[in-house]
Amino acid sequence: MNQVIEFTKASQLKAKPEPSVLGFGKYFTDHMFIMDYNEESGWHAPRIAPYEPLMLDPSALVFHYGQAVFEGLKAYRANDGRVLLFRPDKNIRRLNETLHRMCMPTIDEELLLDGLKQLLEIEKDWVPSAEGTSLYIRPFVLATEPFLGVRPSKSYKLLIILSPVGAYYAGQLTPVKIYVEDEYVRAIQGGVGHVKTSGNYAASLLAQKKAEHLGYDQVLWLDAKEKKYVEEVGSMNIFFKIKGEIVTPSLNGSILSGITRDSVITMLKSWGVPVREERISIEEVYEAYLRGELEEVFGTGTAAVISPVGELNWNDHRMIINENQTGPFSKRLYDEITQLQYGLTKDTFGWTIEIK
Ligand SMILES: *Cc1c(COP(=O)(O)O)cnc(C)c1O
Repeated sequence: MNQVIEFTKASQLKAKPEPSVLGFGKYFTDHMFIMDYNEESGWHAPRIAPYEPLMLDPSALVFHYGQAVFEGLKAYRANDGRVLLFRPDKNIRRLNETLHRMCMPTIDEELLLDGLKQLLEIEKDWVPSAEGTSLYIRPFVLATEPFLGVRPSKSYKLLIILSPVGAYYAGQLTPVKIYVEDEYVRAIQGGVGHVKTSGNYAASLLAQKKAEHLGYDQVLWLDAKEKKYVEEVGSMNIFFKIKGEIVTPSLNGSILSGITRDSVITMLKSWGVPVREERISIEEVYEAYLRGELEEVFGTGTAAVISPVGELNWNDHRMIINENQTGPFSKRLYDEITQLQYGLTKDTFGWTIEIK
């Protein structure tokens, strides 16, 4: 790929925040990657420019009919100073699957990875080094054509912005409390639940608010048709350990295909632990709980990597899992995946790439 990526340096560089104040998604780096699409030229003018507000026409289609999609991944600082990416090819592939579903133009995967790498080379100093911190990467695409009418936009912008983020866990993993939602639904077969399009998250906010009001951290979604089968958590896939066996809902067209989910399945198999991907009802989970066989529950996603679940509330049935303690599989998966991400162990899976 020989496409020239033009670089305009910011006239003033920002001060970098202390690791203790980072939190999530509050600070942004000095530069961003940006590229335009129109019908005549396709995707063109890839460039790295100062991070600044966008100018969009008030009639830009994204504001009205929601053609907006995104991805999320991280860059990690190894002890020896190297900057590593974890399976970025998977995020780029998934971005294209999302774009395709939303009638938006797909992007040359090599060009996008190249653009991301060049942006990271420029912003390398923004990758924090305190334990557990990372640089969150947010690629997104939006419809920019000024027009009112329901049809695909004829112009788009792709951007990649970067945000240094703090450690998800202060010290050890902390179990979360999850409310099993049986009123609202997230997605259905034939819809858009399997892709990362912005509207999915807008549609989930009311249920999230309800769960918080009831004292829970997050929502576990059930299938939209029967409200019977387990789907996933707000931005995490879900795993159960029942009587020594690991099971996770199969990708049925309404569940997002998480890259952490895939990494967990692959890693478990490499340990010789079988994983079943199949339809699982919340009732089966509850029955296993009553028999004392629900040994561990955990969520998987880029932000937390592994999020142990300490309590599930389904219809006022409160299931306290593993005495609200992090289970051994959750802990080992978290340790081994983060060790790979931070370059602390040999990457036998070929999942990490270094930014030079
Ligand atoms: C992003 C996301 C996940 C997790 O995907 P990862 O690739 O593991 O970060 C799971 N569910 C939903 C709905 C998501 O948006």
